[in-house]
Amino acid sequence: MTGTVQLRGGDPLFSGALDVAGRQVTVVGGSAEALGRISALLEVGARVVVVAPEVATSILDLSQRGLLVWHPRTLLAADVEAAALVIAATGSAESDAEVRVAAVGANRLVLGATAPETEAASERVEARPPTSATDGHPTTGPSARGLTSGSGDGVGHGVGTVVLVGGGPGDPGLLTVAGRDAIRTADVIVCDRLAPLATLQHARPGAEIIDVGKIPRGEFTPQERINALLVEHALRGRRVVRFKGGDNFVFGRGGEEWQACAAAGIPVEVIPGVTSAVAAPALAGIPLTHRALTQGFTVVSGHLPPGDPGSTLDWGALARTNTTLVIMMGVATLAAITTELVRQGLPPDTPAATVADAGMASMRSVRGTVSTIAALTASADLRPPAITVVGAVAGFQPDPSPIRR
Ligand code: SAH
Repeated sequence: MTGTVQLRGGDPLFSGALDVAGRQVTVVGGSAEALGRISALLEVGARVVVVAPEVATSILDLSQRGLLVWHPRTLLAADVEAAALVIAATGSAESDAEVRVAAVGANRLVLGATAPETEAASERVEARPPTSATDGHPTTGPSARGLTSGSGDGVGHGVGTVVLVGGGPGDPGLLTVAGRDAIRTADVIVCDRLAPLATLQHARPGAEIIDVGKIPRGEFTPQERINALLVEHALRGRRVVRFKGGDNFVFGRGGEEWQACAAAGIPVEVIPGVTSAVAAPALAGIPLTHRALTQGFTVVSGHLPPGDPGSTLDWGALARTNTTLVIMMGVATLAAITTELVRQGLPPDTPAATVADAGMASMRSVRGTVSTIAALTASADLRPPAITVVGAVAGFQPDPSPIRR
């Protein structure tokens, strides 16, 4: 079965004014600055072709997942001619100007990497001051709005702030209003591949975007390096946003980042996000705690299989909890996990579902039982990011008496 989701976050420029669905858009440049535009274009169904000798990790990831085409070389006339729209995002004003000349010469539309009239400048007064003290302990709640950090060049006086922003499962419409405001007013944005990157087009011009995306079993920036980056930029007086998918404190290493900032005397603000642990089942029509079926849910990481010396989970207890089980990071280990759950006494016909790319245009899901879900997930070729739900609610049907034809 395939889940459906209405995307709410589509960029008004591409979903309204400029219709590029199904048409080729050539993006010239592969730095993190281009990520916002690229993600917004993918959301409206444009065929994105990136031309750049090198690309940021998240762009590499998109090309490996088959969501865009990357030509690792310099621009050819044919790249412009094949495009309905050209994006000049080389990161250098001079090269962008050359791209513009080539596009205009070929009678093609051309845009830069950031939104032309970004709302960021006018909305800087919306920036939130830190909600926690410099000792790194959370305060009771957000203080009044009205402060901005940083001067025009993004470098302020004294110490800056790190804002941990949870981006939700991928649809920019599921980013909170506070999170969006933080992106618009940030001096530096340190982002992961699973964050709703289309929002980055609304970063203020000149904001520095750093891509530290981790590809499962592939390229990544070590956590210590990410911590150091946050501290380094904040110490220069900047307002730094750490932009992640879901919620930063749900398998997001937000706690470690907070500790690193606290140790350096940097105030931290937290903007919670909609975690995929809850959003992915919801978007697939699975009510996690449907009243008649269960009185709770348990969220675990499946990145280590049962029996792995590093695992601290009690799979026997999990098989007996009688709550809905939500397994994250478990695609590679799903066969081992489900076999163990059944071995530990979970009835083999317990409903189960896997939901991949929840909240994204590419979202897909399959439903079965705990005994069949690993094979179904593999045969449907569902890949990370994906969540598996095990429990009666995974068999939920909204209509108790479906219409028969
Ligand atoms: N902090 C994130 C989780 C990071 S761990 C959050 O709160 O959502 C990464 C795992 O999250 C993935 O392996 C997958 O299990 C899950 N995940 C993240 N985004 C997802 C999405 N859009 N659809 C399905 N699962 C997702």
